[in-house]
Amino acid sequence: MYSSCISSVVAYEIIDSRGNPTIEVSLTIATNYRGIASVPSGASTGSYEATELRDGGERYNGKGVLKACNNVINLITPAIVGQSFTQESLDALLKELDGTDNFSFLGANAVLGVSLAFCRAQAEEKRVPLFEHISHQWNNDKKVIPLIAFNVINGGKHADSGLTFQEFMIVPTGYDTITKGVEATHRVLNELSKSLQEQGLSIGLGDEGGYAPHLASNEEAIEVIKTVLKKAGEEEKFRISLDVAGSELYNSDTQRYTIDKNESKSSDEMVAYYNRLIDQYHLFSLEDPFHEDDWQGFQQLTRTSGSSCFIVGDDLTVTNQRLIDRAIESRALTTVLIKPNQIGTVTDTLHAVYRCHSHGLTTFMSHRSGETSDTSIADIAVGMGCSFIKAGSLRRGERVAKYNRLMEIERMIML
Ligand code: PGA
Ligand code: ZN
Repeated sequence: MYSSCISSVVAYEIIDSRGNPTIEVSLTIATNYRGIASVPSGASTGSYEATELRDGGERYNGKGVLKACNNVINLITPAIVGQSFTQESLDALLKELDGTDNFSFLGANAVLGVSLAFCRAQAEEKRVPLFEHISHQWNNDKKVIPLIAFNVINGGKHADSGLTFQEFMIVPTGYDTITKGVEATHRVLNELSKSLQEQGLSIGLGDEGGYAPHLASNEEAIEVIKTVLKKAGEEEKFRISLDVAGSELYNSDTQRYTIDKNESKSSDEMVAYYNRLIDQYHLFSLEDPFHEDDWQGFQQLTRTSGSSCFIVGDDLTVTNQRLIDRAIESRALTTVLIKPNQIGTVTDTLHAVYRCHSHGLTTFMSHRSGETSDTSIADIAVGMGCSFIKAGSLRRGERVAKYNRLMEIERMIML
């Protein structure tokens, strides 16, 4: 493993796409190469995610991250400056300094900022693109351009559309390059905005850049997308994906899921309901269809529909090896969502991906609903050979930054 000596570290607050503070870290290594990384933030977070440290109090409604910045400056920096590290040895020391199993002392946001900035600085020092550095060290130089799931309608905690499902996405499965897929998605989005306007519905955007229209039900949103794909002449070239964010629909008192207004279902009924949706709409993937502790629901659905639709775990597995191992053993999923800030270090993120691939699960790289212009998830996805990626719609700068980076990587790889 490649090692580099750290010479300085700076951490400070920047603002994310929701207008909340987040941490950015600038780390320089002795050869004067520098890496800068910023950390995203979720809204529908899983309870087993690594801890995001927030200041509390009145400033920024408690969402300041000065404590996390101070932890980098006062606790991490003195322990790492002047010393040489590989990515793995740095991340191991960060764990040791923290001393908890979920980074609740230093903050996973502080830790990931340092870990990712170091990774970028090493790539700079080697004068290779970040994806190249990652694939070289962890993936034997294999590189894959992932298939994108573009978010077109937002619901759940990401919009006030009233839709209970969180994300309605379209996947350009009929196009063999990202560049062509982006162009086709642009056509579909134009058709969608025209159709919403004709129906007198809002074309305002949700957190991830998809539209947030007040439609009557989740299934109506799927129907609208289906109709628009047809109108755009793209019906055969796209499939539909959903992120239900099932934990948000679950009522632990009644042990039932509320799907649409006044309609609730047991876990078993949900399995039947999803099997119908998968069949009827030929769904490409279905993420977090159940609550994060409803392993049985995931298992049943994977058993019944896992061969025709990717069943994806996000809050279920939170990029955590222990939970990923449980998903492998119990055959609860076909696919694992990967979010670096759920686990806190580059090494653990890459090990999680590696673990999935070596046990036959596919991986789905993901942004968070609160994002920055950092594009490292694009490079990690390519460098580690993730099959899929989602980074929102073709609207909002922090989302398209990832897609522009993917198109740039595609140009580099194809040259
Ligand atoms: P989050 O949403 O970033 O708000 O957690 C993304 C997702 O659930 O996939
Ligand atoms: Zn999710």
